[in-house]
Amino acid sequence: MGLFSKKECVRCGKKAGLLTRKKLADGDYLCGDCADLCSPELTSDDFRNMTLDDVEEHIEEVEEDEDRYENEFHRTRTIRTQMVLKNHDIVYVDDTHGWWVNATRQHPDVFTFSQAGDCHLDLDTTLRSDDNDDDHDHEDFLEDMFRGAAFMQMRMQYPELPVCPPNEEIQKMEFVIYINDRAPITEVRIPVMDAIIPSQGDIEGGYECAYQLLNLFRSMKQKHADYEQAAASQTKAAQPAQAAGGDMTEQLMNLKKLLDAGILTQDEFNAKKKQILGL
Ligand SMILES: [Zn+2]
Repeated sequence: MGLFSKKECVRCGKKAGLLTRKKLADGDYLCGDCADLCSPELTSDDFRNMTLDDVEEHIEEVEEDEDRYENEFHRTRTIRTQMVLKNHDIVYVDDTHGWWVNATRQHPDVFTFSQAGDCHLDLDTTLRSDDNDDDHDHEDFLEDMFRGAAFMQMRMQYPELPVCPPNEEIQKMEFVIYINDRAPITEVRIPVMDAIIPSQGDIEGGYECAYQLLNLFRSMKQKHADYEQAAASQTKAAQPAQAAGGDMTEQLMNLKKLLDAGILTQDEFNAKKKQILGL
């Protein structure tokens, strides 16, 4: 018992390894193999909210999605990272269907434009270690000036993105998109800078990329809103005329049938007809 007690996967019964297993709701565990069948976007918190039934349902959806991606997804746009050496695709867009995927995943989920909610750049920063030394010489002073100027420039260039303060350094940059109406998936995280010791160029590339993504997801939101508005005004315009016209003709036709069948007299027909036509 205790720390080394064996945990079994609640889905397949195999041993659920300490490093790969996921904790589910009710304290059950899912082994790494079963977790791999789930969306790559699921976080540990997402798993913790799922029961075995949720997992089974989710795995079915993931399989359908893989099929959709392979057979129906038609790429019309590609967003790439801006890094010189590790330039790679990060988002594919299908404008025809109104779909997008996280291209950094091997088996990506296909999301609709409307499922992309709010998004932001997530910066992971730490305090600069060299700021702790006591002897602040001329060289340090110049570097501080340089960092301060770089900070101000980034603030001006990317007013909508968070900027790393001059006394901190960036460890990780991820673009986060919150996902609507797609339980159990809650967010998609896309790394836009993957250097371990990032150069100024890496960081600038990361910002450039994040800015591109920000505009992309905003344009998706706008496109979806436009589409909804167009659909709404179309039904609005079409409905009243059709409803009133169609309804009236139908009522009069039925009335005529009743007259012809001798159920209504001519006077009763005339009175009812006037009523329907609003005369
Ligand atoms: Zn399993």
